[in-house]
Amino acid sequence: MYYKQYGDTDMKVSAVGFGSMRFDEDDIRAGRLDKCADVQVYAYSKGINYFDTAPHYCDDKSEEVTGIALSQMDRNKVYVSSKTNFGTLETNHPTKQQFMDRLSLSLDRLRTDHIDFYHMWCMLNLKEWEAHMEALYSFFEDAKRQGMIKNIVFSSHMQGDDISEVVNTGKFKGMLIGYNALNYSFRQSGIEAAHKNGMGVVVMNPLGGGMIPRNPKLFEYLTEGTDLTVPEAALRFVASHKEITIALNGFTKKEHVDDAIKAVENLEEMPAADIVKKYQNKSSLALNDLCTSCGYCKGCPKDIPIPKFMDTYNEFILSGDKNSMTDRLNYHWHISPEVAKTCIACGHCERECTQHLPIIKRLEEIGKLA
Ligand code: SF4
Ligand code: SF4
Repeated sequence: MYYKQYGDTDMKVSAVGFGSMRFDEDDIRAGRLDKCADVQVYAYSKGINYFDTAPHYCDDKSEEVTGIALSQMDRNKVYVSSKTNFGTLETNHPTKQQFMDRLSLSLDRLRTDHIDFYHMWCMLNLKEWEAHMEALYSFFEDAKRQGMIKNIVFSSHMQGDDISEVVNTGKFKGMLIGYNALNYSFRQSGIEAAHKNGMGVVVMNPLGGGMIPRNPKLFEYLTEGTDLTVPEAALRFVASHKEITIALNGFTKKEHVDDAIKAVENLEEMPAADIVKKYQNKSSLALNDLCTSCGYCKGCPKDIPIPKFMDTYNEFILSGDKNSMTDRLNYHWHISPEVAKTCIACGHCERECTQHLPIIKRLEEIGKLA
């Protein structure tokens, strides 16, 4: 296993981390949690030492599974990460005691007395980040003082420049963001800022939510000069960034662990700027039609979350299946297609779009799914 240093700490972590959100669904439903934990124990035996979990993953069983696995490992040799957040800006926020109860529950389920990396979870934009800081940061500091958590970190879906703003506050030891061969050129500044600030950078979604393995032809260029499959090469692509500490992979079977380990064998690290230069022109033409999640189309007068809708449309472009859009909206973004119909065609977003996408027409198509 290839190891990297976590930010400016003395922690050595595996370049591939175990994302505990893809256990076998049948096993989870049938309560065969020991069987799921076996995959984590196998990963540990192969040198993976970073295990990421959260409440709600896998029918709320992921932390429990991870606890079973941890009880079979040397706890001092592994790092465990979990998460909490306060919900949306509109809902009533939990009290400090309720946050503490959640953390205690996570610790019980994980069968441990501390969580190594505790995330302020899922900050979608700077406004949400500010609200999270107000509601949660002092709770995180208290939990750290009490030894229940070791490092305060955050996870986010913000874009490069906004991420840099959070990073530059110096309040976090590390961060977790989505990064892959689809969105890398627009997330580059965020990971560079974090690295410069001595933070660890953990990446989720290295396979673009499954879009990359589902469309191997488009991403074949990543495999050039290797004997890797497209998913393996996409994982290696992410892990080879000097600024990225850990690429999280969701594993269902032991074979998936072996594949991921193969992907980072003899890894050669490169600065993100060089990687962007190397691959920028190799992307296939179809990528020009894809939304890159750069977020430059901000400022819709109807508050339509355009990048989320365009990400949804990406699914259609790549799969050719309109139903894939309904699934993406329902299960990933939790947005109704009705929202797309509120577009008044003012044209602001299309003027700003870095990819010059026909956003209005795409919203119309999505609106028809309602
Ligand atoms: S064209 Fe539609 S989606 Fe774009 S900014 Fe105007 S109202 Fe929003
Ligand atoms: S729609 Fe265009 S500007 Fe908006 S996030 Fe996608 S690529 Fe960027």
